[in-house]
Amino acid sequence: MSNTMKTFVMKKIGELGFFDKPIPRPGPNDAVVKTTRALVCTSDTHTIGGAIGERSNLTLGHEAVGCISELGSEVRGFRVGDRVAVNAITPCFQCDNCQRGFTSQCGQMLGGWRFSNIKDGVFAEYFHVNDADANLAKIPDAVPDDIAVYTCDMMSTGFMGAEHAAIPLGGSVAVFGVGPVGMMAVAGARLLGAGLVIAVEHVPKRKELARTFGADVVVDYTEPNPMERILALTGGAGVDSAIEALGSQETFQAAIKATRPGGTISVVGYFGHGDYVSIPRLDWGVGMSDKTIRTGLCPGGRERMTRLMRLLETKRVDPSPMTTHRFSFQEIEKAVRLMKTKDDGIIKPLILFDP
Ligand SMILES: [Zn+2]
Ligand SMILES: [Zn+2]
Repeated sequence: MSNTMKTFVMKKIGELGFFDKPIPRPGPNDAVVKTTRALVCTSDTHTIGGAIGERSNLTLGHEAVGCISELGSEVRGFRVGDRVAVNAITPCFQCDNCQRGFTSQCGQMLGGWRFSNIKDGVFAEYFHVNDADANLAKIPDAVPDDIAVYTCDMMSTGFMGAEHAAIPLGGSVAVFGVGPVGMMAVAGARLLGAGLVIAVEHVPKRKELARTFGADVVVDYTEPNPMERILALTGGAGVDSAIEALGSQETFQAAIKATRPGGTISVVGYFGHGDYVSIPRLDWGVGMSDKTIRTGLCPGGRERMTRLMRLLETKRVDPSPMTTHRFSFQEIEKAVRLMKTKDDGIIKPLILFDP
């Protein structure tokens, strides 16, 4: 067996390609996973575009599952060969922020985001996992890799959007931007007992999938008076909870406007451009509306991942309709480019690695 592997990297801002690297080795608490499936994320395209700054031959990707190929000497809960998922966010679970309960902010703001940020990502034949006992999660036999890979980011982030939205049982929820994270926010809102889920979207394929995942009403914001239509659905009061799942100034402002006083605006969008995001002053009750704005980054860790796996095992949610495209690892550049242009009705491209 050779000691090198093929990886797909960002050579520099805007430039992509394959690059051979040594197969990573685990430290005492770490693991190395042989990749079987990965998903391309819109945030990969932000990274390539320079949203987190310049990088040199950084392996891309943060959503992948596989089999453990090597374990550090101190890892207790797993064996070589186990099928595992690893969240996009891999905290240490020991530092001050982790102990305060904000594991995605491990060490520093957004510090739990290691893959394809401060270390190599998962678009590679093998990838390294820090703090393996805390970050690996076994994939149940009944759950195929093709759907398990949705736990890494889409399900964890989308469901967090709903969990952070403080949805009252039977309450009304509006989800702004129904890409794959928004779809999982819709599904999460349903699971958490929302009585009315309004999806705000205009791309036809996304509107269709919003309904598949449980939206009661789809408001197309390109049609006249979308805000009036959202408000009318709640008798003019505004929704109890809004979930911003796009990361744009427009949807953020609309989410604040659509939320009733005392309600919660849960932000899961990635704001990839600009220096400031502004709050509409009057819709914010000139600062006194009792509206809560909550943010968060994809929660990781074995315990959460195991719970997400259970939702797949018991079929509470089936993310497979989001897989609109499949590519081999050799074809990954095509998938990344499609994810940027959003052509061809793409929602998520699944990347298949050689066994
Ligand atoms: Zn992602
Ligand atoms: Zn930490």
